[in-house]
Amino acid sequence: MPSSPARITHLVAGSPWEGRAARTSEVFNPATGEVTGLVDLASADLVDEVVTGARDAWRSSWADVSLSRRSQVLFAFRELLHRDKERIAALITAEHGKVLSDAVGEVTRGLEVAEFACGIPHLLKGGFSENASTDVDVYSIRQSLGVVAVISPFNFPAMVPLWFVPVAVACGNAVVVKPSEKDPSAVLAVAELWREAGLPDGIMNVVQGDKEAVDALLTHPDVKAVSFVGSTPVARDVYETGTAHGKRVQALGGAKNHMLVLPDADLDLAADAAVNAGFGSAGERCMAISALVVVDAVADELVAKVAERMQGLRTGDGTRGCDMGPLVTGAHRAKVLSYVEAGVQDGAELVVDGRQGHYDADGAGFFLAPTLFDRVTPEMSVYTDEIFGPVLSVVRVHSYDEGLELINANPYGNGTAIFTHDGGAARRFQHEVEVGMVGINVPIPVPVSYYSFGGWKNSLFGDSHAHGTEGVHFFTRGKVVTARWPDPSHGGLNLGFPQNG
Ligand code: NAD
Repeated sequence: MPSSPARITHLVAGSPWEGRAARTSEVFNPATGEVTGLVDLASADLVDEVVTGARDAWRSSWADVSLSRRSQVLFAFRELLHRDKERIAALITAEHGKVLSDAVGEVTRGLEVAEFACGIPHLLKGGFSENASTDVDVYSIRQSLGVVAVISPFNFPAMVPLWFVPVAVACGNAVVVKPSEKDPSAVLAVAELWREAGLPDGIMNVVQGDKEAVDALLTHPDVKAVSFVGSTPVARDVYETGTAHGKRVQALGGAKNHMLVLPDADLDLAADAAVNAGFGSAGERCMAISALVVVDAVADELVAKVAERMQGLRTGDGTRGCDMGPLVTGAHRAKVLSYVEAGVQDGAELVVDGRQGHYDADGAGFFLAPTLFDRVTPEMSVYTDEIFGPVLSVVRVHSYDEGLELINANPYGNGTAIFTHDGGAARRFQHEVEVGMVGINVPIPVPVSYYSFGGWKNSLFGDSHAHGTEGVHFFTRGKVVTARWPDPSHGGLNLGFPQNG
């Protein structure tokens, strides 16, 4: 038990910041409720200093570094991240609360993006057209932007920064990461690995902070691009402010993910999937399933199977081999609890009441056991709002068409899944559903790193998704060169628009 909270600060030009912060924020161990850290919150002046330093480092030590040297750094980083996977996972569990195995899974998915970015020489290959016009060659190149900012949410303190940073760095940019103030330590540990991998100081920086730091990044003239992940209202503001200040912005927002179960589905598989995707990481995943949309004919049977599985879940301290950990803060727990109470008041059928949970933990952690509601209707707040907690709502529908209509009417469009044995129905669903990431008998369809991650509608503002080739495009700008090499003859003066001949 820590006697006094640890100081958590910024990482500037490769070293911990040595100044004194005017403002700090408490960091909790959600499994015990203790305050374990005090994180410095950056002022706008400090953000300016860090961005300026990053810009200078980019110019002097990274923008012109060869692709071969860049990919060597990426390969070294990948090895170090693999080496320290468990250590970083432990930091995540200590501040986020998710169980250790889940935290290791998070780091592993981030590592896959580093592996993707190791292929940067291939990813940045341009096109070349010999003799586009007589003796004229045309080719395309992609160049780095300069300083880019990554602003991340609490729920994946390592993976979300890793969606962006390896690609941005591989593309030749300098990065300033602003992690969530709720769990700021994991990204610092990852940043140290970049240094060990040989990345020059100043190319990977961490500013801790809140809205003040975010606003300073969004308005700073030397920040050229912003990758944001968080709740929808903040994502919308970030997109509007960042683009108004001339930046390219990808702002990934919140979610309400539906899983549609057709009568011909394997109901045991569907029940396992609903429980795993509904309650993993205490429902604090942007790809969590929160609405289980079931065709009437199998609803009673599926609800019974889900409820039965929930009885066997162990909620508790993430270091003890439990299935589900606590919520991130006491305030967030209170918010989730208020939704459970609203569901009861609105007349949803409470099948499993998480408020009655038992917890395998010492101390007063922010625990709330899994809750299952049945007969939820689309007007109830448990359906309309993103709860971001262990609350699963069953919505009964009469048919595939009614289920599809419900999903498409929802303002969010992050992830969805269909469970069925009917290939034709699945194929119709993938075509007709207005959601960015679709699972077919797969409940959490997080794309592999060489595809891109991102939702539709209120789940993403901007037109670029994260990582994969869209990430490479986002972090570079294209240039097309039209070249002719000295030839003693020339065409003389001609003020007409150039035409190919
Ligand atoms: P949040 O919006 O509260 O915070 C996200 C980031 O924005 C943090 O770094 C935070 O410090 C900063 N921030 C908070 N309020 C701000 C404000 N008013 N102005 C400027 N910056 C502000 O989100 P969260 O609670 O940390 O994370 C959970 C949310 O993130 C959920 O809505 C979840 O669905 C979403 N999320 C989405 C994805 C996705 O891929 N679409 C992935 C992970 C999480």
